[in-house]
Amino acid sequence: MVDSWQNLRIDSDRMLAAFNELARIGATDDGGVYRPTFSVAHLAARQWFREQIEKAGLEFRTDGAGNHSAFLACGDAQAPTLLLGSHLDSVPNGGRFDGALGVMAAFEVLRTIRDADLPLKVNLEAIDFTDEEGTLVGLLGSAALTRHLQADLLQAPRGGRAALLEGMRRAGLSDESMLSAARSKESLAGYLELHIEQGKRLERTSIDIGIVNAIVGIWSYRLSFIGRADHAGTTAMDDRLDASLGASEFTLAARDIVTTDFRDCVVNIGNMQFSPGAFNIVPARVDVALEFRSSDEEKFKRLDSILIAQAYEAANRFGLELKVEPLGRHSPSLMDDHVRDTFASACDDLGFNYISLPSGAGHDGQSFDGLCPVGMIFVPSKNGASHSAREFTEWKDCVNGANVLLQTVLRLAM
Ligand SMILES: [Zn+2]
Repeated sequence: MVDSWQNLRIDSDRMLAAFNELARIGATDDGGVYRPTFSVAHLAARQWFREQIEKAGLEFRTDGAGNHSAFLACGDAQAPTLLLGSHLDSVPNGGRFDGALGVMAAFEVLRTIRDADLPLKVNLEAIDFTDEEGTLVGLLGSAALTRHLQADLLQAPRGGRAALLEGMRRAGLSDESMLSAARSKESLAGYLELHIEQGKRLERTSIDIGIVNAIVGIWSYRLSFIGRADHAGTTAMDDRLDASLGASEFTLAARDIVTTDFRDCVVNIGNMQFSPGAFNIVPARVDVALEFRSSDEEKFKRLDSILIAQAYEAANRFGLELKVEPLGRHSPSLMDDHVRDTFASACDDLGFNYISLPSGAGHDGQSFDGLCPVGMIFVPSKNGASHSAREFTEWKDCVNGANVLLQTVLRLAM
């Protein structure tokens, strides 16, 4: 028994043993993991987590979306629940830390608090969210829990309906069960997540902990530059309506705009589809997949109008038509100020330095936007590598993150 809760720390060896066991499930030869949602390895990892929860003497819970949780009740039947979590699924050939660290840290925090037998005013729950990475749908378990999952999304998910049906069948789930996982706003006290940074900022500046201020929003478009197909040998250069020129000019201009005037935003042109698409035909049409991200709603709107104006200008310059098709607008989610301050005071007391930074990647915390306070912390990623077997975080950094999570939970839950 520790003398005071301020001196309570997680058990590094116990967390490491669990982390290493988990990393063996779906392990790849190069040191990564292959655990796409509802793959054999992912189902095995979930089963393993369930066994760990039961072995640890914590209550195991699951819901219609297949989220798996360890639950620590506070004794008051009316009390809301503070969720801590992340995800056990991975991208194909992903790393050992993405998601897994957050779930193992949340689980370790619950064991530590249970062992210390501290009085709580809220329930605690360490949760593994189904399909964060989007093999099937993306942020699936957290969206289901927070009532953001629409029935029609399940009909046309990004991984295809057939894959979703097959996956749900293997996990014993269905469309109906997915929608039944919704919880009430009143039952949620908050959501906290520890994750690897997946970028280089913390490592480059030798900072222990990143306190996330916002998860970036993502806007995407399909832009179609439309010209005219002609013989590539007999049509004079001046007579062509070459759709590739508008698309190419736009690509370079978009990079320029962001690097010059929107330095905290990013833009990506991830695909170009040429039609008819042959060596000897002038391209009649190029479909461009455009995505850009920002953590600031105002900047989003400005960048949006500048990029689209630029696309029209590029089309005009080469005599092309432009078709603009908006595909998705996900607003940035702001992290809760009180939770951020609490993370900071936990860092101060533990002697860790920290900075505030946005998350350029999407996370389950977005699903809780507007429902309850959300907070996230990052620990350094070696060389910023992620979604790869090269993903690595020093164990001491993982432990630091878990202790910040623990001390933050204690401040919020007692
Ligand atoms: Zn992740």
